[in-house]
Amino acid sequence: MSATVLDKAWLRARARAHNLHALGVTTVEQLDAALPPPLRPSTLSSTMRSVVVVVRGGYRGLAWARHVPTKHFWAGRILKEVDDALGDLAADLERAGHAALPVLAMALDYAARNPTDLTPLGQGTYLARVAAVLAGLGTLGLNEMLLTPQWGPRCFVGAVLTELELEPDAPLATELCPGLEACGRCAAICPEQAIPLRQPAGASLAEVRHLDCVACARATQPYGPATMARHLTAALDRDSPDERWRLAKDLTTGELWQQVTMHKEGAFTACQECAQVCPVGADYAAIQRSPHRQADLPDGVQHRRGDGWVEVQWVGPQWRWPSPAPEREGLPPLTWMQPQR
Ligand code: SF4
Ligand code: SF4
Repeated sequence: MSATVLDKAWLRARARAHNLHALGVTTVEQLDAALPPPLRPSTLSSTMRSVVVVVRGGYRGLAWARHVPTKHFWAGRILKEVDDALGDLAADLERAGHAALPVLAMALDYAARNPTDLTPLGQGTYLARVAAVLAGLGTLGLNEMLLTPQWGPRCFVGAVLTELELEPDAPLATELCPGLEACGRCAAICPEQAIPLRQPAGASLAEVRHLDCVACARATQPYGPATMARHLTAALDRDSPDERWRLAKDLTTGELWQQVTMHKEGAFTACQECAQVCPVGADYAAIQRSPHRQADLPDGVQHRRGDGWVEVQWVGPQWRWPSPAPEREGLPPLTWMQPQR
């Protein structure tokens, strides 16, 4: 088969046809250099040359809404649509004669990665988010989310590797996130205090940017893989058959069934608080029209300064997942939930 000559204009047109909203390109070499060894794209395939990164904006209606399960469910559906669109884009490249490999957001390799790779909010894998930064689609915020000029962090990101050599895009010249000292809204609202609340005065964003991935997973994945493992462990460890039956009939089993059969990708998107309050993005003024969003952080963010430090006063969210999974004593540590980055 003779290979079609492709360029980024062609790829962007195909991406639009698949309901993806932005596309950029970086190289496998650049992305390898920016990631820790287990997350490098060359571990997936040694023959790919370019990384095509795509972004899909969320619905303003989701950011406006207050019903947590609805927001949780539909964020998961958008994530599924992104994964489907990555497959369509890879098929376009293959039809044009170029090998392509979609890097699915939800396909976790438990030997090398774990569900913390999808924190915060299930926006996309760390690989895809860093690729998006290199491809000029945005920059990483204080909470390690991809912030874009159009949707701030209220978007989802995915990637396709291809053997096709494409001209890489340039990263943005400046950070979009002003950092903890000048903003800190995400840190003030995070229910798990997973985002830095304190920093030395004047420290750069690069020095402070961080996410406690395991803490974030408690809120974003309340009935995700970790809860499944803990619930099964708790049930199987019981000596008494009556106690095993009691745990099997616990409502946690029903919640887990709902996640597996209905929510699926939504198992990673239960908390969206940090994204909703982030002022970056052309959509933010519209987001703020919602009375629910205006009620976030009603007094703004209070910064305390002293002894060379700046601290954001934690406020927390207005509401969160209605019935968090119960913590049971005596469960073994989930070492596969340790952060990978
Ligand atoms: S606000 Fe929610 S999604 Fe964001 S970092 Fe905190 S727990 Fe994770
Ligand atoms: S809320 Fe503020 S500090 Fe947090 S990521 Fe957005 S711009 Fe950065």
